[in-house]
Amino acid sequence: MPKMPVYLKIFVGMIAGILLGIAALCFGGEFIVADWIAPFGKLFIRLLQLVAVPLVFFSLVKGVVGLNDIGKFSRMGGETILVYIVTTVFAVVIGLAVGLAVKPGASVDRTKIADIRENYRLEAEKKKNEAEQSAGQGPLNFLTEIVPNNIVGAASDNSKMLQVIFFAVFFGVAALTISPDRARPVVSLFDGLNDIILRMVDYIIRLAPLGVMALMAGLVVDFKGDAGIFASLGVYALTVVGAMLLFLLAIYPLAARIFAKIKLRDFFKAMYPVQIFAFTTSSSAATLPVTMDAVENKLKVSKETASFVLPVGVTVNMDGTSCYQTIAVIFIAQVLGIELGLQQLLVIVGMTVLSSIGTPGIPGGSYVILAMVLTSVGIPAEGLAIILGIDRPLDMLRTSVNVTGDATVAGIIDKIVIR
Ligand code: ASP
Repeated sequence: MPKMPVYLKIFVGMIAGILLGIAALCFGGEFIVADWIAPFGKLFIRLLQLVAVPLVFFSLVKGVVGLNDIGKFSRMGGETILVYIVTTVFAVVIGLAVGLAVKPGASVDRTKIADIRENYRLEAEKKKNEAEQSAGQGPLNFLTEIVPNNIVGAASDNSKMLQVIFFAVFFGVAALTISPDRARPVVSLFDGLNDIILRMVDYIIRLAPLGVMALMAGLVVDFKGDAGIFASLGVYALTVVGAMLLFLLAIYPLAARIFAKIKLRDFFKAMYPVQIFAFTTSSSAATLPVTMDAVENKLKVSKETASFVLPVGVTVNMDGTSCYQTIAVIFIAQVLGIELGLQQLLVIVGMTVLSSIGTPGIPGGSYVILAMVLTSVGIPAEGLAIILGIDRPLDMLRTSVNVTGDATVAGIIDKIVIR
């Protein structure tokens, strides 16, 4: 029998989990699911959470320290990062607007939501307490929340990821300013550590089919077999597809036309093979050579620009992923009946923008980060199970968006910064 790819196994896991849950409901076996199956789902989520802090820390430090290589391109370095941040913020805002306007998770039965609320009561209460605590601390409280007063404390709490990000960037910038001889061993240490963490992520993703099966069985039992959740899953998928197509067919071609003076026809012609490659591999890192080739030879971007902007973009710039993550968080919150206030929405924007830098450009690379963003706004990370089963096609699309975003920015930097 040919080996089944992981994404198909995840899909099979989801279906098996749903069937298991339904069987438990039909034959009164809810307690079997709760006691013997659902804990494996929790285990999978814990593994994802386990690697979140080191993944973000090592990849961020590596990213910042890597800017050292640019030497004479330091101006390009600053501008590139700026443009990348602007496009990511834009993507997150679009995701937020689409998620809040379409409300993909709102069609779930309200009476069921009351039950679910009860199930997740502890989490909800914790979140409420935190919100109440910060409410009396003035509008700039979120700023002081970003700077940790103790890095070990910050790293020991998954909801304090912004603080870890702050420390990583600060650390990386300081590493850039010491003598290269002293920095070199640290840089190679971080390269090695980063590779190890990526391997761990890879192993965890291989466990996803089992994890998703267990989580799904638990969720079906929690939702008492409500079919509304599956209907809303369809609405969610269509919402993400719509947002991704908006980027691929309108936003990037127009941005390339306006800022990089690339004709629409030339842009589509140059980009579609890259998009197809990204779509089939679901990995922006694997697509890099193809993106480089198209950007240099077809979009006629200079070699210097392409060879700096694109590799940085693969790690730093993930517009498709950021936009999708925002929609996913809003959807999961809506399904679980958790209301997100303005402060939580701002945290989602901040976390998604910053943590997209730490997302590896591999299939399912964003799962770790998504689990982390969910936790940081008080949504149970188990909610991830709802979307993972149908994630692969969405991953394929958002990877196409990610690489197209990198290529567009390379064109823009080449025109407005270099020339
Ligand atoms: N697969 C995506 C990429 O490689 C990352 C993700 O969103 O999971 O760009």
